[in-house]
Amino acid sequence: MISMFGWKGKTLQVNLGKSKAVADRYETSLAKNFLGGRGFAVKTLWDRLKPGINAFSPENILVFAAGPLSGFALPSSSKLVVAAKSPLTGGYGDGNVGTHAVVQMRKAGYDAVVVEGRAEKPVVLLVQDKNAEFLDAKDLWGLSSFEAERKLKQLHGLAAGIVCIGQGGENLVKFANVVSQEGRAGGRPGIGAVMGSKNLKAVVFVGSGDLSAAHPKEMKDLGAEAYRDVLTKPNYAFWKRQGTMSTIEWSQENSVLPTRNYSEGVFEKAEAIGGFFMEKVKVGNRGCPHCNMTCGNVVRDSNGKESELDYENVAMLGSNIGLGDLGHVAALNRTADEFGLDTISLGNVIGFAMEASEKGLINEKVPWGEFDQTESLIEDIAYRRGLGDTLAEGVRSASERIGRNSNRWAMHVKGLEISGYDCHAAPAMALSFATCSIGAHHKDAWVISWEVKVGRESYGEEKVDKVIELQRTRGGIFESLTVCRLPWIELNFELEWYPKFLHYATGLEITWDDLNLIADRVLNLIRAFWIREYGKGWSKEMDVPPARWFEQPTTQGALRGSKLDRAKYDAMLQSYYRRRGWDERGIPTRATLKKLGLNDAAEELKNCVRLYE
Ligand code: SF4
Repeated sequence: MISMFGWKGKTLQVNLGKSKAVADRYETSLAKNFLGGRGFAVKTLWDRLKPGINAFSPENILVFAAGPLSGFALPSSSKLVVAAKSPLTGGYGDGNVGTHAVVQMRKAGYDAVVVEGRAEKPVVLLVQDKNAEFLDAKDLWGLSSFEAERKLKQLHGLAAGIVCIGQGGENLVKFANVVSQEGRAGGRPGIGAVMGSKNLKAVVFVGSGDLSAAHPKEMKDLGAEAYRDVLTKPNYAFWKRQGTMSTIEWSQENSVLPTRNYSEGVFEKAEAIGGFFMEKVKVGNRGCPHCNMTCGNVVRDSNGKESELDYENVAMLGSNIGLGDLGHVAALNRTADEFGLDTISLGNVIGFAMEASEKGLINEKVPWGEFDQTESLIEDIAYRRGLGDTLAEGVRSASERIGRNSNRWAMHVKGLEISGYDCHAAPAMALSFATCSIGAHHKDAWVISWEVKVGRESYGEEKVDKVIELQRTRGGIFESLTVCRLPWIELNFELEWYPKFLHYATGLEITWDDLNLIADRVLNLIRAFWIREYGKGWSKEMDVPPARWFEQPTTQGALRGSKLDRAKYDAMLQSYYRRRGWDERGIPTRATLKKLGLNDAAEELKNCVRLYE
């Protein structure tokens, strides 16, 4: 039984069908072996989810999980992982949201809230210290995520931490996400839709307890020193001006800016949606709790509303759909956040629809770069009307419906739409997308900036090693600690801080090697989850990026004529598998799973698809 610092040692187990919520103490080994956040989420889903269930069935399990540093006054430490079996990919799905909800959840006494079942009618789960209540949400159902949160704040106070869904989640759009604080969002693989399927409009956390650190004084001093250190970083001032938005210019310069459904890596109007132009119209900064880097760039959109911009939403709702007006991009972004639709997947499916329209494969006219029609299309997606209904299923499914070889340019891996980097000339980034834990996402290994520096042509082992190293650090350690990786990535805030934070928080000596081992355990269990779900449908093709990058070279920019080489990519993938301790199909070997203490996974994989015969 847990009796330690840092972690609260308790989860709240919720059954919506029975309107029951019970606090549960968990074993110390869970914390030590899986840390928190993503680690807790995958362990819970692996242990409790029946394989093969429909992601929208009441049996699916929704996890809100914090890490042992969440809620302490440490730089950028307040992310909440939201996870479930994904309705979009059919595999493991998660995301993180920077939110007061995680702070309040921990103050209320919980490291995680685990939700199963389906409420009979729309509800809000209110967690107030030891009490949990199921409140009627009929007045909130149908409202946008922004409106719902405002109303809930009126009822429960401005300090309440709230995560909720918009109409996209209610209508089971498969890339609906979870929204908080009017613009912070996470859970790309449809975690918001899973909430919707459970009739759960929002979770409200109100906590009055303290977080106890093993060494409170040292923790406080170290936190203060760390915040000061962030402020002294050379790139700090520029970061506050632009956040991730300067990546638009960087991507353009390096021919990786996704343009017109990833057919090109340069966009003729990049400047008009770039970081320097954004600075001229910026009206403020927003950010996550406990962060002094606040990277949400607030601008006024073409509808006169505030919209919070970053690189991904501008690239995907700008260049990828041929739209070169930042005010319009901001309006689409705001609309998407209100509906609770993931902006990356949204820009991807709209780009796909525009290309399908241009090629005459659909009856609807959806011209590149057209604002009004795109805004209406987003509404159609949120309410599942006409073409919007097809797109609401995600790009993999849309291309299956439309057929006629559109799968060659449906830009996804494992059903999750690719995020904002074109990889015609970036094999390591392509490998990163293809082997990411949730489908194509840059979160686990944003290797592109390193790859541009070391050279684009190589498919060598140094690239495989780098992808694995980043996946461990970002996808394993940061996601399980639930701290933001951007101080490290963008400002060079040193990794050495984190074992010290952990020591003062928990009292334990946890080395970087220990953290890497935990990361491997988490990432291998996620892989086992995918394989258990797909069974005999699993193949190494699941780890291959879309055909477009191999078959249709770019025609614009300094790198025109670029495309990936399939034979070299296949060899790179096999090298990745070997280094991971996986077989030639990408399945972890028994020895690998056992070495990580995942004996039950080794047994279950053997039984479920007779893999090791
Ligand atoms: S850097 Fe940005 S994303 Fe990270 S915690 Fe701060 S505001 Fe949130």
